[in-house]
Formats: sequence, structure tokens, C-alpha cells
Amino acid sequence: MANEEIKYTIDLLLNKILSEDKQYDITKITEAYDFAAKQHIDQKRDSGEPYITHPIAVAYILLELGMDTDTICAALLHDVVEDTDATLDDIKKLFGDDCAMLVDGVTKIGKIPLFTKEEQQAENVRKILLAMSQDIRVIIIKLADRLHNMRTLNHRPPAKQRATALETMNIYAPIAHRLGIRAIKEELEDIAFRYLDPFAYSEIEQVMEKRKSDRQAFIESIQARIRTRLESMDFIKKPQIDGRVKSIYGIYKKVYMTQRGFDEIYDKYAIRIIVSTVYECYNALGVIHDMFKPIPNRFKDYISTPKANMYQSLHTTVIGREGIPFEVQIRTWDMHYTAEYGIAAHWKYKEGIQGKDRFEGRLAWIRQIIEAQQETNDVEEIVRTIKSDLAPEDVFAFTPKGDMITLPVDSTVIDFAYAIHTQVGHKMSSAKVDGKIVPLDYKIKTGEIVEIILSKDEKKGPNRSWLDIAKTNEAKAKIRSWFKKECRDENIRNGRAELEREFRRNLIRVPEEELDDFLNDDLHRHNCETVEDFYAAIGYGGIILSRLIQRFKDKYTKQYLESDKPVEIPLTATVPHKKSADGIIVEGMENCLIKFAQCCNPLPGDDVVGFITRGHGVSIHKADCQNYQNAVRDNKEPERWVKASWEESNTKIYRTTIDIVSYDRPGLLADVATILSELRIFIHESSSRELKDGYASITVTISVGGIEQLNNVIARLKRIPGVSSITRTGK
Ligand code: MN
Repeated sequence: MANEEIKYTIDLLLNKILSEDKQYDITKITEAYDFAAKQHIDQKRDSGEPYITHPIAVAYILLELGMDTDTICAALLHDVVEDTDATLDDIKKLFGDDCAMLVDGVTKIGKIPLFTKEEQQAENVRKILLAMSQDIRVIIIKLADRLHNMRTLNHRPPAKQRATALETMNIYAPIAHRLGIRAIKEELEDIAFRYLDPFAYSEIEQVMEKRKSDRQAFIESIQARIRTRLESMDFIKKPQIDGRVKSIYGIYKKVYMTQRGFDEIYDKYAIRIIVSTVYECYNALGVIHDMFKPIPNRFKDYISTPKANMYQSLHTTVIGREGIPFEVQIRTWDMHYTAEYGIAAHWKYKEGIQGKDRFEGRLAWIRQIIEAQQETNDVEEIVRTIKSDLAPEDVFAFTPKGDMITLPVDSTVIDFAYAIHTQVGHKMSSAKVDGKIVPLDYKIKTGEIVEIILSKDEKKGPNRSWLDIAKTNEAKAKIRSWFKKECRDENIRNGRAELEREFRRNLIRVPEEELDDFLNDDLHRHNCETVEDFYAAIGYGGIILSRLIQRFKDKYTKQYLESDKPVEIPLTATVPHKKSADGIIVEGMENCLIKFAQCCNPLPGDDVVGFITRGHGVSIHKADCQNYQNAVRDNKEPERWVKASWEESNTKIYRTTIDIVSYDRPGLLADVATILSELRIFIHESSSRELKDGYASITVTISVGGIEQLNNVIARLKRIPGVSSITRTGK
């Protein structure tokens, strides 16, 4: 971090390379330097220094991270394609495909402009993630590039400083965090914070500075005591003990988030103990708790439950004789490398299979975000998701078998189910947390054991309301795609029901057979081929009806209400009655397909007429149905209306809606439900609302066998205390 003072020269870089244990191709690196130096020869940084100091500095940062030869070369070359005459082909020829690919990736990210609007920010992050997913080294170079630009930000104009700092805080620091590269993340945050809130920064800096010598003495004495004690134990071999102070931004966040004073922040001071084995970690913890008084609820075991970015350590906050609390972090060397270098540790320390696995896990996260984003075009949601997915805090919960599931804060049991497996999510019926049934919007907390209870119903799928409950984009994308792909029939049904509901609410009564024509414009507008496509789109949420309803109302008024040609429609007569399968006899037709019109839902016993639809058989309306009456009045297609009547006996079930008006009192709805269940009447839907003067209206949709049964039901309901009227509604 003292690199700001270092004059970047190739000699310094090469010396550093030679001092590394790792094998580097020093000839190739020197050639890359020569090429870049020649290309940038006339260019200067804003600081006035030769431009080449910047690529060298970036290469130096990457060398400290332990990156490979190609990455170092690409760092030296990272600005030549963008800023000089050199082409990607030149780089490919001179330094090979890998190097050229890395330079290309970095150049492309560089072309993504500083964000201005939120939607642009989402798109930019998306591009960065895409570049990352090709080769993670691209983003690591970009992070190093950004780090050096942040270190030299004081040479830029003030407006640029703020924009760059904001972008660093919102995009690059979270990415560095997610990749687990602590050193880069903290430095990016600290510098960005300095530009974004100079006042708070210097305040914290001054407080820290003022106490520097006290702090130094305190940390050193604690360190010495711990060292003496640990070294006297034969079960802990060669522990390393460091002291460290939290980053300025880290302290700021604590103060800001917990609303506590600076003095109340416990973990400004941290002691780090690095040992050889996990066994030694837990033993060291025992020793620490024996030496100092642990503060309750401050112990965190990130060894058994690592953070999402693979961070592992034991954390505990203890208080010593001096009365000053401090945090102790205990970890193995392996965990230490991962904590410091994150994904970069893959190059630096482990090139074996284990490293590769961890590496894959990180890439999976990036791919997930990209895939999830492709499922939605809602820009706000993309921004929200990236922010929440990049948020540093995660919760860890367990399956009953002890598998750990990592989720962002505020995730619900639905997110948990989908995180286990897509099918587990789809088939979930309820969930238990620590053995107790919880509502589906229950927010999981770290350490809880979550059991997902699956439905036995094979066809069970998610509920649409889950989209509002789920937190992770992953779960939402899976729910959405289920509704889109696997559930067309249900979408059509739901979409249709929703359209009918909206129409009813707005008093739009279009005869079913005319619906095609009525909706025609809107079908095209939404790229739907058929009415069913249109229903399906409403059903899965692709079309928002409330946005269309005004158009429908206008259209309806124009087409149906403003024409006035009252003409009697002659019904075709004198054809013998024939039976049909639905308990309806339609004149002149045998075995025709019968549908009961949704606008009036005729019941046996009602006077009815039939309408010959195009391709859907005959739809049966009540004779007093408004649509029929309108058709009569307007003399609309009289040839398509036919006489119809009920068969003598039938055992069919019909759906009808009744409206019960009653004096409002507790238990009213329960009484209605009780009577209906006593009569074995199936309730499809019910709703209630308050009326004036203490009255309430309850609307129930039920199935009945015919007019007779309905009358019986109504008679029984009328006996409920307080009920003043019961009417069959127009539905
Ligand atoms: Mn650069």
C-alpha cells in the first residue's frame, strides 16, 4: 500500500519477479515491456509521468497477487490496443492467443462507459460479468488497473474523481469482495471513500492517527502475551501472530451501520493467529477464551460455515485486563491465502484439483447472475439483483441432512428451496425452520435448519405470488420460467380469468364469440398469434392488464354502447329438439359442442338462447343476458342466435355466483361457509367487502346442480341472522 511512493520502473518489476519462487518467463515479460514502452513512448499520465509507469504498476500489483506470465504480459500491454496504433493481431503474433484474449477483454471492459443512469449501470455490470466469465484473469487485471488508477486519482479533474470513486465503490469493490481479494477490495474502498466522503474519511483517519502509538503498544503487548502462551502449548506448532487495524472504510461502515460511537466499535483492533491445521485453530480458540473474557454473541465459526466468497476463519471478540475489546481471527495458512488473495490464490498457491474446484464455484456465481439476468428485462430488477447479489452479507442455513446453503440476507424459504434444486422449489408446499412450520415469506437466519416439505401432487408448481416473496434472482428466474414454459394451460386459464375479472370490474361485456375481434389489435400489439397466447401472456405476467384496461373501456364504449339499432332478432324456429351431452338442447343441432357463456353463467331452469361461435360450438346465454339483449337491440348477426332449452333431467354441476348482503358482524363469513359445507356445496371463490351503515357484502362462487338446488341454498343462507338479501349476480 506504500506503492504510491514507489517509482514504477521495469527494473523494480523484474527484480521482484526474480525474487519470486514461481517460474516466470522473464524473456516474454521483457519483450512485452519493450513493446508497450515503444507504443506508449510519447504519452504521459495526468500526473506528468511517462505513460508506461501505469502498465508497470498494474503488472506489479498482479505480480504481488501471484498471477501468471500471460497475465503479467497482458497487464503491461493492457492499454496499447486502446491508446496506440498497435492491433490485437500484433499482440497475438508476438505474445500468443492467451495474452491477446486477455488484452482484448480488458480493452472491452475499458470501453464500457462510466455509468450515469441506473439502467446503464446494470448493462455495464452485465458486460463486465460477461467478460469475467470468459476468463477470470480479465477482471483481475481490470481490478489491478482500477486500483492503480484509484491510487493516482488525485491527478484527475474533480468531476472525474467522484464518478470514478462512485463506480469503484458500486462495482469494482464488490466484485473484488466477491472474488475474495481482500487487499484490493479494502484499498479500493478506502480510496473511493476518501473521494466520496472526504470529511468522514479524515475524521476517522485523525482519530486513528491520534491513538496510533497507544494502539501500537496495546496490540504489541497483546500479541506478545498470546505468543508466549501459544508457544508453551505442544499441540500448536509455530503459530504466526499478527496485529492489524480495520480499514478506514470498514470502521466507517461499522459506525454508520450500528449507529455506535467510534469507541464502541469492538473490532478496530484485530489479532490474527495463523496455524497449520483446523484442529489447531479450535485449540487456539480455547486458549484465547481462557486468556481473555469472550464477549457474548461475538463468536463466529466461518470454518465450518465459510462465507460465500470462500472466506474461512474463527472470529471471536474478547476483552483483556485493559478493558479494551479486540477481535481475534484464527485460521490455517490455506485459509489465510484464500482470505487475502481470494480467487487469485488459485494462481499463487494452489494449482491442484482443490483450487480448480473452488475456482469453478466462483465462476458458477458469475454465470448464475448472467443467466438470471437473461430471464428478465426489468432493468430496475437487474440493478437491484446485482446489488443484492454483490452485497457482502450472506446467511448460511442448513438442510436437515446438514448441507449448507448460502443465501443473500433476507432470503426466504422459497429461495432456500430453489437453491437446493429447481424441482424442490417447484414442488414445495410448506417449510419448517428448526422444526416449526413457517410462512413462505419467512426470512432465513444464519444457523437455522430449514426443511422443505414437498407436495405429493405430481403436477404441483410454484405459486405466482412467490415472485414477490422470493429474494434471489435465481429463484425468481426459475419461477418465472416455470410459468412461462411448463404451465401454458394454467397460464391460459389464469389469464382468461383475470381478463374476465377485469372486464367485469369495468363493466365490459363482450360476447365470447366476439372476443377475438375485440382483442385483435391488442394481440398484434403484444405479438400474440391467438387469443390463447394473449391469455397465457397475461397468466405468466408478461402482459399487465391494468395498463390496457383504459383502451379496452374506450373500445367497448365505441363498439357496443354508442350504437343504437334496436331490432328484434328472429329466432330460428320449428326444428325438432335434439339432445346434447350437456343437458342443453339446441335447435337444429345434434351433439354440438356446448359452452356456457361466462357473461351470465346460465343454470338449469333459466330461459336460455344459443350463439353459434366460430369453431367453438354453441355458447349458451341466459335469455335476459345483457349481451344477448344488446345483440337483439343492435340486430347483430341474428342468424347466429338459435333457440335452446334445458333437457328434462340432468346431473350436471353448474357454477354460479351469489351476493349476500348482511348486517356486518363477527363470524358472518364463517356462518356462510358452515351452511355451504353442510349442504355439501363447493366454494370456488369468495370475497367480502364493507358496505355503508354497518352492512357487508359477501360474494361467493359455488357449484350447484341446478336452479332448484340454488334456490334451496339461498333459502338456507337467508336464515343466517343478519342477512338481508341474497341475489344471483350477473356473472
Ligand atoms: Mn489502464
